[in-house]
Amino acid sequence: MPVLRVALDLPLHRLFDYVAESATPADVGRRVRVPFGRGEKLGVIVDVADASDWPVDQLKAAGEILDDLPPLPRDFFGLCEFASTYYQAAFGEVVMQALPAGLKRLDPPDRRNGRAAKLPAALPPPELTGEQAVAVAAVDPAAGFAAHLLHGVTGSGKTEVYLRLIAKTLAAGRQVLLLVPEINLTPQLEGRVRARFPDCGVVSLHSELAEAARERNWRAAFSGEASIVLGTRLAIFTPLPRLGLIVVDEEHDASFKQQDGMRYSARDVAVFRANQLKIPVVLGSATPSLESWANAQTKRYRMLTLRERANPEATLPTVKLLDTRRMVLTEGVSAPLVAAIQARLERGEQSLVFLNRRGYAPVLACPACGWVSRCKRCAANLVLHLADRRLRCHHCGFEHHIPKACPTCGNQDIHPFGRGTQRLETWLHEQFPEARILRVDRDSVKSRKQWEAVLERIHGGEADILVGTQMLAKGHDFPKLTLVGVLGADSALFAADWRAPERLFAQLMQVAGRAGRAELKGEVLIQTQYPDHPLFASLVAHDYPGFAAGQLQEREQAGFPPYAFQAMLRAEAPEMADAIVFLKAAAALPVIGEHDSVLIYDPVPMKMARLANLERGQLLAESHSRPALQAFLPRWREAIESLKAPSRLRWHIEVDPLEF
Ligand code: ADP
Ligand code: ZN
Ligand code: ZN
Repeated sequence: MPVLRVALDLPLHRLFDYVAESATPADVGRRVRVPFGRGEKLGVIVDVADASDWPVDQLKAAGEILDDLPPLPRDFFGLCEFASTYYQAAFGEVVMQALPAGLKRLDPPDRRNGRAAKLPAALPPPELTGEQAVAVAAVDPAAGFAAHLLHGVTGSGKTEVYLRLIAKTLAAGRQVLLLVPEINLTPQLEGRVRARFPDCGVVSLHSELAEAARERNWRAAFSGEASIVLGTRLAIFTPLPRLGLIVVDEEHDASFKQQDGMRYSARDVAVFRANQLKIPVVLGSATPSLESWANAQTKRYRMLTLRERANPEATLPTVKLLDTRRMVLTEGVSAPLVAAIQARLERGEQSLVFLNRRGYAPVLACPACGWVSRCKRCAANLVLHLADRRLRCHHCGFEHHIPKACPTCGNQDIHPFGRGTQRLETWLHEQFPEARILRVDRDSVKSRKQWEAVLERIHGGEADILVGTQMLAKGHDFPKLTLVGVLGADSALFAADWRAPERLFAQLMQVAGRAGRAELKGEVLIQTQYPDHPLFASLVAHDYPGFAAGQLQEREQAGFPPYAFQAMLRAEAPEMADAIVFLKAAAALPVIGEHDSVLIYDPVPMKMARLANLERGQLLAESHSRPALQAFLPRWREAIESLKAPSRLRWHIEVDPLEF
């Protein structure tokens, strides 16, 4: 009697065996209904065997084997196997998270047929610059695996390079997977891809698609009907029968890292997958992650460089520092920045004031007794939102009305402390009553439709001053924008997190890159009290390589990644003591003694120690050898699974953590 070995969506590191009379090896990769506990589950057949480790007469019979879809291919299981091993995630969970919800249902809805929308005639491509031509020629879809780092300054035409590489790959009859950080923020990119390849079946895959659309697009990708798949991190697991090229745009972006469930880096999985399939992968950025930069320096990745802006009329903006120690600020804004905005208004050009903090003020405070608005559930302040008169926690969503008086001492004179985009917007209205001011952050722009409307207003010249967070920093072309003012950058300069400078530099470089994208020269004014900080010197010189070299040197001296490999064990529980006791037990497991090249630190509370009523602790495991860490982790995980823990304690292991 054939035995089915089935992957189920459970946090258990094993497969489940069932008998199925009529099953054949051709069913490997098909979905199957199986009895489980008192109910039923949908799983994926990983193997059809002659025997089981369990007594066969005790195995339950599988239910229906679904054949509405061709079987999932072998390379898909290879990819899931890698992710499961590398990230310490259960294989069944990895397999099932790769499928769209519609294919995991026991009660499938009607499968309406639909096709990806097709657009008007293809646009004629521009003539490549010399640097672009070199980059395009360097990537050969037929030459096997190679990882390329495309380092191009903002506006250097990286997208055009992707489009040419896509064309090459399609011409060879293969599919392309183009990963982007957040699809909602890049409707322009999607538009450009569709316009260039109107007949090739372009589908998008991301979490905000409705279930039916996601399933439809996934099927088109899996069947090979769609030649171009544009997706966010989750798309990296889509089985694609003819995949010939993977592109990761803005490869440094933190949203390629999944922060719950299986905590994977889609960029790193992309490199593994390209290697598995013997195809090229291109990682593109103006500010690559230091991990990728180091890989290019050591020649594990091939470096492709675009130093100049593609449009010959456009030059990189001039970056100037405004030393605010010698200036009087009004609502946080200096006189030279006000004058610069005024000059743009007079010339009919656009300005952008960047402040990466939404809300009116980060906290409400009582000067009489020292009370501040804190979240009851988190180790965080409640942010003041005057627009809808709420205090709101940006971490757990907790909300409260604004009190009329101090809840502690009754003082009626309570004040907002610090400033966010709403407050800046209000003040700019007073300062420039004639100007049309548009605030762009996650409070004012919540959906893709709103975002498209905002972009249309900006492009149509219907806004003079933009006030916004990092939403505005990414990848947009605003031809009339000639001034970027930056406020509040100093707080990240001396953050305890050693990755903070890397993030700040990338963010400032990206937002500065919005200025002067067309014929009009751009200017960037950064307010700071630390104009001598080396980060700013690199920024003024548009010198990412210099910045990266300095950072890598510091990291090497300190023994931080990419010169060390890390995994984090995290535990959360209603009481911090429970989390710490558990982590201490994990730090004392005998298996650790058998792996002397792995260092285990002391358990500590996380930087945000309390989130949504749970206290959170963490324990760092580190090694100078990735294979040594990888050999240790499964044995450690198994030993941790056997520890006794309070029933409300949850734990997970995160490999290559980005946040501490
Ligand atoms: P990046 O992604 O590197 O920031 P983009 O690909 O968005 O840059 O290109 C910036 C601008 O330059 C776009 O308006 C694009 O249409 C234009 N562009 C790209 N390549 C060329 C080229 N070879 N000749 C002229 N313009 C180009
Ligand atoms: Zn008070
Ligand atoms: Zn909260």
